[in-house]
Amino acid sequence: MAAIRATDTEPELAVRREIHALGYRYRLHVRGLPGRPDIVFPSRRKIIFVHGCFWHQHRCRRWSPRTLAHDYWGPKLKGNRKRDRINRAKLRRLGWELLVLWECQIHDQTSLCQTLRSFLR
Ligand SMILES: [Zn+2]
Repeated sequence: MAAIRATDTEPELAVRREIHALGYRYRLHVRGLPGRPDIVFPSRRKIIFVHGCFWHQHRCRRWSPRTLAHDYWGPKLKGNRKRDRINRAKLRRLGWELLVLWECQIHDQTSLCQTLRSFLR
């Protein structure tokens, strides 16, 4: 269980396909940056995180406060959120611009495309 890492998840692949179609080049899972960000645009100094709603506790339709009260998942997921927050703050201090895309938001291809365009421009 400890070794499982959510790389190359379906939502992330969908975002990468879209970025590729827009013609941008990126690097993946860059070590040495806080949080090992999913998609990195070094020359633009921009980073995109693709977050699963459950693992990163997005407060969306799927969210339930009961999850955080769960003996096993609660502490784990709270830890994820805290780590996300700390990593975002570190990256901003290093001068990176960040975009967080949530799993539940990327199914609408048109709006995903718009969001990516305006972020990467
Ligand atoms: Zn969500």
